[in-house]
Amino acid sequence: MNVFSFLEDEMNLLKDLGTYRDLVPLESCQGPVVKINGKEYVQLSSNNYLGLTSHKRLINATIEATKIYGAGTGSVRTIAGTLEMHNDLEKQLAKFKKTEDALVFQSGFTTNQGVLSAILTDKDVVISDELNHASIIDGIRLTKATKKVYKHVDMKDLETQLKQCDNYRVRLIVTDGVFSMDGNIAPLPEIVKLAEKYNSIVMVDDAHASGVLGDCGRGSVNHFKLEGKVHIQVGTLSKAIGVFGGYIASDSILINFLKHRGRPFLFSTSHPPGVTAACSEAINVLLEEPEHMERLWKNTYYFKNSLKQLGFNISNSKTPITPIMIGEDHLTHKISDELFSNGVFAQGITYPTVRKGTARIRTIVTAQHTKEHLEKALYAFEKVGLLFKII
Ligand SMILES: *Cc1c(COP(=O)(O)O)cnc(C)c1O
Repeated sequence: MNVFSFLEDEMNLLKDLGTYRDLVPLESCQGPVVKINGKEYVQLSSNNYLGLTSHKRLINATIEATKIYGAGTGSVRTIAGTLEMHNDLEKQLAKFKKTEDALVFQSGFTTNQGVLSAILTDKDVVISDELNHASIIDGIRLTKATKKVYKHVDMKDLETQLKQCDNYRVRLIVTDGVFSMDGNIAPLPEIVKLAEKYNSIVMVDDAHASGVLGDCGRGSVNHFKLEGKVHIQVGTLSKAIGVFGGYIASDSILINFLKHRGRPFLFSTSHPPGVTAACSEAINVLLEEPEHMERLWKNTYYFKNSLKQLGFNISNSKTPITPIMIGEDHLTHKISDELFSNGVFAQGITYPTVRKGTARIRTIVTAQHTKEHLEKALYAFEKVGLLFKII
C-alpha cells in the first residue's frame, strides 16, 4: 500500500495545472552562466547579485577558517558552539548597519521566525504587508499576537489598521525592504511616519536590499536615511552577501533578549567556521570594492530599459529584480521552457508563490553579467515574446 497516495493526488493536480517542476541541478558554480545537462545557460534566476558566491576572497576565507577551526562547530552557540569569529561577525554587521548590536541566525528564514516568535505575545498586535516573505508569515504564525495584514504598500490601509490597535502592549509593523517577487521598494519613510504617530515598532526584512541598496549596500534603511527610526533590521547572508545565514541588527536589549529567547539560536547548531569567515570577508568586500555594486546597477538599468523597449510589462520594479509579467501559470512555465531552449535560465514564478493571475518570469541580473550575456538573453526574450504574442 502506498501510504502517500494522498500526496500523489495533489501532485497530479499540479501536473494537470502545468505547475509541477523538477529541481534543476547545476553542474557549475553559481555564476552569470551556468552549466545544466552539459550545456551553458545565461543565469537570470539567482540571488547572487554581486557575484560574491565565487569571489576569491570569500573562497580563501572559507578555506583558511576551515583548516584552522574545522568543518563544523558541534554545538549550539549557547552551549559550546560560539567561536570568537561568530561574535566578531556580529560586531561587524552592527557597525555595517549602524546599530548597537547584531545577532546571526542559521538563515534569513529562521531569523524572521526566531525574532517574531520570541518578541510577540498575546498582548501584542503585528501588522504585516500582504506580500511579505513566507518566513515573515510563518514567524507570525508562531506567535499568539493578533495578526493584521495591510494591502500591499497601501499606507491608507496601514493607517486604518493602526487606528484599531490602541489596546495592545506592542504594535509591530513588518515589511520586506524590497519585495522579492516584484522588486519594488517599501515606502519606509511613510511607514516610519505612521509608526511614530501610532507609537509602533518597525521591522524591515532587507533580504533583497542588503548589498543592493544604500551606501556600500547597507540596505533600504540606509537608502532612506532612516537609521534609528527603523527599530529592527533583518538581513540575509545568503543573497548578495553570497554565502549563507541571516541576522538581525537592532538595539542591544533586543539582541540580548534573543540570545535567551530566540529559538533557532538556542536550539540549532551555529554556522561552520568557513561560513562565518566568508560572510565576514563579504562585508569587507562590500566596503572595499564598490565596483560590484556599480556594475550591478549599470546592468540593471540596461536590462530593464531594453525589456521595456521590447514591449514587455515589467511592472514597477526599482531594483535588480525584474519581473516579466505574464499572468497565467501554465503559459508562464511554457515561456520559461522556451527561454531555456534558447539558452536562458529564467524561472517562472506562479501560484502559490505569487497571486493567481500574476504569474511572471522573475529575472535578476548580477554584477557578473557581461553585455554579451545580457544581449543574448534579450535576444531570446524578444524571440519568445513574439512567439507567444506577449509583445
Ligand atoms: C530569501 C528571503 C528570506 C530568507 O533568507 P534565507 O537566508 O535564504 O533563508 C527572508 N526574507 C526575504 C524577504 C527573502 O527574500
